[in-house]
Amino acid sequence: MLGYEPEEIINQPINIILQNSQNNNLNNDNINEVPIYKSLEDGTVHHINHAIFYRKDGSYFPVEYISTPIIEFGTTIGAVITFKDITERKAIEKMKNEFISIVSHELRTPLTSIYGALNLLATGLLEPESPKGKRVIQIASENSERLVMLVNDILDLERLESGKMKFIKQQWLASDVMTAAVELVQNMANKANIKLLFSPAAIPLEIDRDRIIQVLTNLLSNAIKFSSPNSTVWLNVQLQTPELDSSPEKSPTVLFIIKDQGRGIPSDKIESIFDRFQQVDASDSRKKGGTGLGLPICRSIVQQHGGNLWVESNLDRGSIFYFTLPQQAVEN
Ligand code: ADP
Repeated sequence: MLGYEPEEIINQPINIILQNSQNNNLNNDNINEVPIYKSLEDGTVHHINHAIFYRKDGSYFPVEYISTPIIEFGTTIGAVITFKDITERKAIEKMKNEFISIVSHELRTPLTSIYGALNLLATGLLEPESPKGKRVIQIASENSERLVMLVNDILDLERLESGKMKFIKQQWLASDVMTAAVELVQNMANKANIKLLFSPAAIPLEIDRDRIIQVLTNLLSNAIKFSSPNSTVWLNVQLQTPELDSSPEKSPTVLFIIKDQGRGIPSDKIESIFDRFQQVDASDSRKKGGTGLGLPICRSIVQQHGGNLWVESNLDRGSIFYFTLPQQAVEN
């Protein structure tokens, strides 16, 4: 792990792996501060949660180590140092901390607004029946709805990523899930004055029906949300049979296509919108609703069916979201 051959480090001072910003001036005066030396000095075990070890090539990595003295007849004659590369753990901790800070921020925003609204009513500053009072109640209600949506999305994503979400895959027809999803978003399309065209095909496939409807409604509602009035959103499906020369065990895949004539996605955001809480425009969540969690949830559901989800887009001209599902369920 350190890049040395045993003969290169035998009889060398421990400093060669411990050179770092804090103790790169290791000398006879401060060497005893190093926990490894402390073990030798006080004869006790020292557990260090975070330190940096240097490799022979000068690169370094975070480690956790335990220095245990070897005591013979009451005298410390050496120490055993057990160390572990914690690079991955540090990266996960960093991701977790970032996630927690974004989540707290996202939750605090609607909560502050609900608190403010209720406070105005509770202190009697506003009459609930007055026009302003009614408006404030409406704000509290909309923000409560947003909180519920956020918490549901966060829970869904957590369950998906930890593998705790159980998929019940059964035979359904593509036309069935398409019709169900279109019914769920039809009202939204009508309100936005957007024509929803879909050509359901009776292609059988093995899926978790509710989860695939969730993916379709999410992609359709995004398409509606980011389109201008009087435009069209299409939902199509195709059966793709594998090439003759591809591996025989490959099952046919079903390709779903959701196309809109909306504002499109800039090319530098084409991948990042699939990351948690990522929106093309920071004001999207305020103006258009949504949490920035929809696409990561959709991608995770599709991938756990053995499929892929991607997008092609032209700025100001529209986007096409595609996702594939194997016709026969795959174990994962
Ligand atoms: P949200 O809940 O914000 O819709 P998503 O993860 O579903 O979260 O989408 C993330 C972002 O991707 C959206 O906020 C939007 O900026 C962009 N986006 C998604 N679908 C489309 C689309 N059909 N047209 C344009 N932009 C889109």
